Amino acid sequence: MKTDKNTIDKTEKKSGGKPVSYKKDLIFIGIFLAVGLILAAVVFLGKKAGNSVTVSVSGKEVISFSLDEDLEYMIEGKDGGKNLLIIKDGKAWIEEANCRDGLCINMGKIDSVGQSGICLPNEVVVSIGSDEVTDEGPDVVVY
Ligand SMILES: [Zn+2]
Repeated sequence: MKTDKNTIDKTEKKSGGKPVSYKKDLIFIGIFLAVGLILAAVVFLGKKAGNSVTVSVSGKEVISFSLDEDLEYMIEGKDGGKNLLIIKDGKAWIEEANCRDGLCINMGKIDSVGQSGICLPNEVVVSIGSDEVTDEGPDVVVY
């Protein structure tokens, strides 16, 4: 009695013939490195301390200061709105305001590029920027 069934699968898979592409790997590594560098740069810039404070009312820039100078400035907002801007020790914040919600006072101190404080009722925006140009600028002294 012979039970000669083809139970053995004779399918030989021949692998090979395709050369490993090191070039592609290098390209991918390059891309990863580039992306990593960009991300690092973004994070770095995001944490970069600003050096200027720009005040805008109703979308229009009205005045800008250097973060290096300690001062107080009463921002004349929309419809008689007032926001007292304080710049001290490289940080800026709104100390007082006559707006309804007072959210701008609660925003806290800002000192990094891209950060901003907004008073919606008064349409006041205080934003931190960075001027790469380091000129002396006008001396603003407020007593
Ligand atoms: Zn406010």
